[in-house]
Amino acid sequence: MISHLKKYEPKRNEICTCGSGRKFKKCCIGAYSSGAQERAFEKYNKGLYAEALTACRHHLTWYILCHNAHTVPFLSSGTKKSQDLLTIDIEALADLVGLLHRCYFKTGQSEEFPSTLDRLANAIDDPRWRDKVVYLRALWWLLDKNDRNSSFSAVSVVDIESCKDPEILTLYIDVSFQKQSFKITLEILDRIIENTHKESYKLQYTVLKGIAYCLINEVDQGCEIIKEATDNYQKLSDENRTPYGDHQLAHSLHILGEFLGDGNIVRETIAQYEAILHDVEKQGYTEAYAAVIKKSLGDCLSFLKEYHEAVKYYQESLRDENVDLTKVFLSRAYVNLSDSESGRGLLKSIDAAQFDENSHYDYAISWAILATHSLLPEDLETAKSQLKQAESNWPLFIGQRDSILIQLLETVPKKPKSAIKDLVRSLNRYVSLNPNLFGVGINFNKIVEDIDRKHAR
Ligand SMILES: [Zn+2]
Repeated sequence: MISHLKKYEPKRNEICTCGSGRKFKKCCIGAYSSGAQERAFEKYNKGLYAEALTACRHHLTWYILCHNAHTVPFLSSGTKKSQDLLTIDIEALADLVGLLHRCYFKTGQSEEFPSTLDRLANAIDDPRWRDKVVYLRALWWLLDKNDRNSSFSAVSVVDIESCKDPEILTLYIDVSFQKQSFKITLEILDRIIENTHKESYKLQYTVLKGIAYCLINEVDQGCEIIKEATDNYQKLSDENRTPYGDHQLAHSLHILGEFLGDGNIVRETIAQYEAILHDVEKQGYTEAYAAVIKKSLGDCLSFLKEYHEAVKYYQESLRDENVDLTKVFLSRAYVNLSDSESGRGLLKSIDAAQFDENSHYDYAISWAILATHSLLPEDLETAKSQLKQAESNWPLFIGQRDSILIQLLETVPKKPKSAIKDLVRSLNRYVSLNPNLFGVGINFNKIVEDIDRKHAR
């Protein structure tokens, strides 16, 4: 089956097709395959990163050789079919290199990735592939180096106005954020939704559009958009649903329930998350992914005021992976169970300087919740100073923050608790901005989708 690819292989001493920089004889020779047996993404999802990296390289080499053996000669026919095949190759190869990127990151070889990209820059001779390489480089600046400005400069090489690539547009929204008007953000979101063939993406970006409306205080319209997107996804047949899409669905319902203040929707969400958690255990997915789901379950239960159950999930989540943001929410559950001391201890143990603006906002709200419970002067002072430092560009959050701040300023230590009932209620009703909603949605801890299934050759 593979023998017909032999004449497209590099020579034994030439560098390998997969971009590793090693000689072919020391890398993919005799080992490359369609990946059907190796399943790089499955290994990744199970946390077997070194094995996933090797499998990914072998699959990549196989795919590039197939492209050279089949697609390239076929293109001379000038048919639409050959063009379609080229498009499939570009998408599939970009997905594979995306997975390769994660494997480099997880195996501590992040610094090697840019030169790997250099070696893969001409794997396909097409401007769309060159844009993909630009994108992957910009993504590396953002995720591995946490350098938004360099990421923005890198992605700006692409002609954004005519770009139809959903992934490039998503990255562009993320790194150009605050540089764009609301109108342009919406226009780009629409272009992403229009051009994606993945149902999970359609759901994710339609929901983002809804959230964007909520953030400018158009909550009714925003919720309608989110509701329609979740309804559409739920109507899909099983084969069009993916684990990644199901996670997006649960997350979307969770946000919808919180914005509407609808306990029934949140209860439905809990069932969805529990099903995902069951899957996580069955499939042997990573603990870091389990931690993400358990934190979400804690958030849902907190919304329903079932704080004992919420504490259990947060603690389990922290045992799976020790994440400061989870502690921000665990502290609230403690406080709501009248254990201000544990809540305060937890908040004090956090290094908030590392937080991005969304997480910092959540952190400030947790201090405000603690302060309204304890009414201690030092808690009130910390809450006020944290809220003053919390930045946001969104009218919804600016309004909320300022109203909380004003009420806190009026709250004196000896004030009777009944007088701040409204404040306590509104603090427990706000919707968290996390995870970074306009972010690229790539979290190295989340599972990755099955690449083979989408682009079966
Ligand atoms: Zn190789």
